[in-house]
Amino acid sequence: KADTAMYQAKENGRGNLHFYNDAMRNSAAERLAMEKALHYALEKDEFYLVYQPQVNDRGYIIGFEALLRWHNKELGQVSPGRFIPVAEEIGLIGELGQWVLDTACHQLKIWQDAGLPPRFKTLAINISPSQFAKDSFVDTIQDVIERTNIDPNLLDLEITEGMLVESITSVAAKMRSLKEKNVHFSIDDFGTGYSSLRYLQHLPLDQLKIDQSFVRDISSDPNSHVIINTIISMASHMNLSVLAEGVEHGEEKDILMRIGCSRFQGYYFSRPVEVDTATALLLNDAPLPSNMDAKSSITA
Ligand code: C2E
Ligand code: MG
Ligand code: MG
Ligand code: MG
Repeated sequence: KADTAMYQAKENGRGNLHFYNDAMRNSAAERLAMEKALHYALEKDEFYLVYQPQVNDRGYIIGFEALLRWHNKELGQVSPGRFIPVAEEIGLIGELGQWVLDTACHQLKIWQDAGLPPRFKTLAINISPSQFAKDSFVDTIQDVIERTNIDPNLLDLEITEGMLVESITSVAAKMRSLKEKNVHFSIDDFGTGYSSLRYLQHLPLDQLKIDQSFVRDISSDPNSHVIINTIISMASHMNLSVLAEGVEHGEEKDILMRIGCSRFQGYYFSRPVEVDTATALLLNDAPLPSNMDAKSSITA
């Protein structure tokens, strides 16, 4: 009996091991394919940006967040959550980040020239940790502003808490130089990192973006409710705006509004949309969620 059990355990063990190896092989192969494809993705023009509306308490667009998309013939659509870490690792994020900056600012200039709706404040761009860490970061931003001729006041750079803990003096210096040019800064995924309040106080920040994990749980988990409440009151003491990310339901928006949040982003209002739809939304200048077919037909 004991023998049988041991035999089975071994069998299972072997089975698992075998399966595990296969999975590893698959993911390693997949990863390799991704690396290879990433190297050519820029020159093959496989990247594009989508834009997700950010809205005020009445649903009017106050900004967009530019989000990177990659479509490769063999791999299909690959999400940034998967390819951005790889791009970081293989040293491609610098070039890719530059492409995002150029493309987003170029588009912003087009919108700026066409005339932005009165409530429109900023186009948000995600900055990767290694982009921000470079000594040339300030120059890079100033350069793209000059080249594309955008109003820097329309630019919102999203950084994460993790980037702030490196060297607070150089972080603050970089931010201040750009702040002098009127560039805005938001902290993305706020609440998931380890930034101390003391740090935040000394940085020229404009906005905290409440991470979507708290928003997702707000109606069910009292802890999330407390955390969001705390973030909102802290932000108000520090004179910062608060934007809630990942708002998927009207109910969440209502709760958030009741506790003092007045800026939102999430599927409830709009998914990230391709550039032409974003332009149409700006021209339309109507509150979201819209009851036009925009919401269901365009997903990116
Ligand atoms: P993030 O900056 O926090 O962006 C928000 C993410 O949440 C986006 O995912 C967006 O599509 C998604 N989202 C928005 N509303 C909702 C909602 O209501 N529910 C849910 N479940 N998700 C929602 P996406 O586009 O897949 O991007 C994932 C992450 O990849 C981003 O998180 C950001 O960290 C990174 N990323 C995207 N584009 C860029 C980029 O151009 N540069 C860099 N460095 N990172 C980027
Ligand atoms: Mg972001
Ligand atoms: Mg976020
Ligand atoms: Mg993020």
